[in-house]
Amino acid sequence: MASPFYKVKCKDCNNEQIIFSKASMQVRCHICGTLLAEPTGGKAKIKAEILEELRHA
Ligand SMILES: [Zn+2]
Repeated sequence: MASPFYKVKCKDCNNEQIIFSKASMQVRCHICGTLLAEPTGGKAKIKAEILEELRHA
């Protein structure tokens, strides 16, 4: 099963951005630098608001 990507919205500046559900590095907002996701060894811990889950066929 493919790992989903998440479309998230930054709580600080409302920027929407796509992040990988198993990100192995911290993911920051492209606009304001707020931390959006943190690696945990497996699934990343998503700290932003998840708008949508995108699955690849
Ligand atoms: Zn932001």
